[in-house]
Amino acid sequence: MNRGTDPLTVLIIDDEEGIRRSSKRIIDDMGCRTLIAENGSTGLGILQTESVDIVLLGIASANMDGMEALSRIVESYPDTLVIVLCGSATIETAIEAMKNGAYDVIPEPDQLDQLQIAVNRAREKILLTHEARRQKPTKLPTLADLGTEQSRIHTIVDTLPIGLLVTDAQGRVVLTNPMFRRQMQVPETLDLGQPVHRYIQDDGLCRLILDISQGCRAELDDIPDYEFSPGSDTFLMAHGRPVIGDDQECQGAVVTFEDISALKVIDRLKSEFIANVSHELRSPLSTIHEQLAAVLSNMVGQAPSNEEHLISRAKEKTQGLISLIGDLLDLSRIESGAVCEEPKQVSLEELMANIIDFLGPQAAAKGQSLTLLRPSQPLPAIKADPLALESIFGNLITNAIAYTHVKGSIEVRMSRAGSHLQVQVVDNGFGMERRHLERIFDGFYRVKTEKTRYITGTGLGLPIVRGLVDTMGGTVHAESAPGEGSTFTVLLPGDLVPPG
Ligand code: ADP
Repeated sequence: MNRGTDPLTVLIIDDEEGIRRSSKRIIDDMGCRTLIAENGSTGLGILQTESVDIVLLGIASANMDGMEALSRIVESYPDTLVIVLCGSATIETAIEAMKNGAYDVIPEPDQLDQLQIAVNRAREKILLTHEARRQKPTKLPTLADLGTEQSRIHTIVDTLPIGLLVTDAQGRVVLTNPMFRRQMQVPETLDLGQPVHRYIQDDGLCRLILDISQGCRAELDDIPDYEFSPGSDTFLMAHGRPVIGDDQECQGAVVTFEDISALKVIDRLKSEFIANVSHELRSPLSTIHEQLAAVLSNMVGQAPSNEEHLISRAKEKTQGLISLIGDLLDLSRIESGAVCEEPKQVSLEELMANIIDFLGPQAAAKGQSLTLLRPSQPLPAIKADPLALESIFGNLITNAIAYTHVKGSIEVRMSRAGSHLQVQVVDNGFGMERRHLERIFDGFYRVKTEKTRYITGTGLGLPIVRGLVDTMGGTVHAESAPGEGSTFTVLLPGDLVPPG
């Protein structure tokens, strides 16, 4: 078979010398190598020893019926193209030749252009066949590559420094990696195909993975990261994502498990450090604050007014630092879990009325109305830490007073929401843009606008609120729009105790 770069070899088989000569001239001029045979049997002999690309076969060749020569060439040399020179043969013969496997038929071989066109067409076909054969072997390495690719992916999955678990749409485990099995202490004997709770003990996480696997958590933002401890001193963070198929159907879940134990230790050390420093600073600062207050009261009307102003500013700043330290201590207590340890039976309505009595004067000083709206039916008591509840609602109402203009209005609405109690703190104050709504629950995040820039604060009130509400198993979220006001909604679950 021609390799596509060699000159074509053309064998001319014809019993008419004139045809052989004229054909040879044309073929030679086309840059091909030419072989000659006067009849079929000589031609077949040449074919046995030479690699021939094209045979020009005179159908009326002597010694052997031309048609028989054609059949034998086609059968024995399938790569060789046979162009039949019909000459005086009939059209029926030409059709017969095509049926028997001729590549082409030339009615009048002495016509120069007909022969050239037919040979060129045959050459093109040979080159295409050659090209197709050349490409075929490259497919084999591609398949081999695929195998290599798969084993490479296996190796990557097996050496990942994080745990990996894949489930199908029924929540059955279809893949795990060695790190996951180590993290969960899954016995080597546990086969794949088992439900996820056979591998993971934490019920909440199993429910979440099942939800994701079954496509109940299509919104990625709706899938929370899940922190849990599979055993002593180990903390893992699980991140789950659905696997979506071509038809948008959920095929299962991919869950990664990141070891956050070291981060937890650092976090605990940071909290302890902050708590220690805050504790050490609180008493001297309180003393300085009291002393500044004493100096200030002795100064009234005696010192130049700018000195009085400076001392008064120093006293305010000290008060700001004392508040910051108080908030930091509260936060570190929440983070260490040292809150809500001994819940008591509390009437939320009574507690709320007390807070409003306490903060009423602060609102009145700004000419604001502060109203408590109770539900028509008395609310059941709740089992909770009263100090934590005071801190939550104290912070929210203080904020509402601070971030509402003079003569604004603040409402505290209480209601029952299924098995939960709902408290909303609604103001018609400055409000804020949507983009701030999640971030205001992060530590030290404060929204700076023309209206709020002179309001002092620590940026720790809302993190304290969220920390406490989380500890109680509740939720808090904010809605707001600039210039229209804000609504903070707290939902607290009960162990609800019916009113006595
Ligand atoms: P602080 O009030 O000490 O700055 P917070 O954590 O309590 O810290 O609140 C964070 C930020 O959220 C505030 O600085 C303020 O910009 C915004 N914010 C809180 N409550 C309201 C509210 N009721 N109306 C408008 N903005 C508020």
